[in-house]
Amino acid sequence: MSLSITDVKLAVEDELIEGAISIRDGRIDKIGKTALLPKADRTIDGKGLIAIPGLIDAHVHLRDMELSYKEDFSSGTLAAAAGGFTTVLDMPNTKPPTSSDERLVEKMAKARTAIHVNVGFYASLAESATDLRRMTNAGAIAFKLHMNEPNSDAWHNDRQRLLSSLEECGALRVPVAVHAENGPAIAKIQTKYREAGRNSARDFLRAHAPRFELEAVRMIIDLARRVHSNVHVCHLSTRRSLYEISAARKKGAQVTCEVTPHHLFLDTSDLNRKGGLALMVPPLRRRSDTIALWKAMLGGQIDIIASDHAPHVLEEKETRDVWAVKPGLPGLETTLPLLLTRVHRGEMTWAGLVRLLAEKPAGIFGLQGKGRLEVGMDGDLVLIDPKAQFNIDSSKFYSKAHFSPFDGVKCVGRPAVTIVAGHVVHDRGEIVEKNQGKVVVRGVR
Ligand SMILES: [Zn+2]
Repeated sequence: MSLSITDVKLAVEDELIEGAISIRDGRIDKIGKTALLPKADRTIDGKGLIAIPGLIDAHVHLRDMELSYKEDFSSGTLAAAAGGFTTVLDMPNTKPPTSSDERLVEKMAKARTAIHVNVGFYASLAESATDLRRMTNAGAIAFKLHMNEPNSDAWHNDRQRLLSSLEECGALRVPVAVHAENGPAIAKIQTKYREAGRNSARDFLRAHAPRFELEAVRMIIDLARRVHSNVHVCHLSTRRSLYEISAARKKGAQVTCEVTPHHLFLDTSDLNRKGGLALMVPPLRRRSDTIALWKAMLGGQIDIIASDHAPHVLEEKETRDVWAVKPGLPGLETTLPLLLTRVHRGEMTWAGLVRLLAEKPAGIFGLQGKGRLEVGMDGDLVLIDPKAQFNIDSSKFYSKAHFSPFDGVKCVGRPAVTIVAGHVVHDRGEIVEKNQGKVVVRGVR
């Protein structure tokens, strides 16, 4: 099976260079001039399109299992393909949670028959070294620690117990992704507010105050530094915690961090209009925070962009009780168009986009053969139509979650063709070939 893409522009560093790409047996086997390409079973005319490596979303909630009413492996990976993502990493806070090697194996087995792009799986961070080792051997891409979990007697709220778990992850060389918010402190305020009948979006913001993110970031950096484990801070939302991470990195801490499109494109002023649709954790922050995040991201202080795709049914978002609203929003089909619009305006470079959404996530999570458009790499790529203009319309999402705080936003640039291992999965809004995704296992190509 071979595929040629002719007369396409390739994003190489900060330049767009005319060329052609040949994919054979699932891998890129030649990049060069169109005239010099070997004959292929199928050819795509790439005129007017820009080729970039298939994007990697390191923070996705595909749900499935008992939460498949929100999203399942099929709908979630179709949304990924339509959004230009050829690999996604699935979070473990499902029902049941991915908290043992058996659960991980079970999830992988179910996914294998249903996925349309590649999927790697997180497992929940465990206290026991045996459990961590077993989940690593079963192929977990990384571990996830939810510091925001309200349970104040959880083992991970004990510094010493958390430290020994992180130490084991360091020895196993598996990264630990962290939701950094001080859970017990937030839970306390929530209870107080609930009892007082306080129930507004502003109360939600107060309960998830910036200082709770900062406290958690400080604690995790401090612990990670002591045991040399690789910690990845998810969905960083404030200027203060950003500075904390930058300072720690300057002193040699192995900490990476991520930002989401909603924390880049929305701020607290959007909450009035969007209500529950714009509620997530950590919540939207002030405009000054979004400005700082953009600046840091473009300056290379933020490693990756991830969507934190968190689908729910609409009723779960529109309930009047702010404490009952399910936090999160679908992001797989809006992330790339929103960012391409910035590239179109000259506010972001192609190299920056590729670094944040492909190269760096592949590096941090050890995804072999992915993240770069080079000979020998996997034949996962996206052809971008940089001039396509459209308005975001969540009713057309492949995701089961048909809502978005970005509805109606005008975008310039969209993923035209999504290719997984040399197979065209998505072509201008249509799904072409299904079931091309593979379960990605740590350290194995
Ligand atoms: Zn998440």
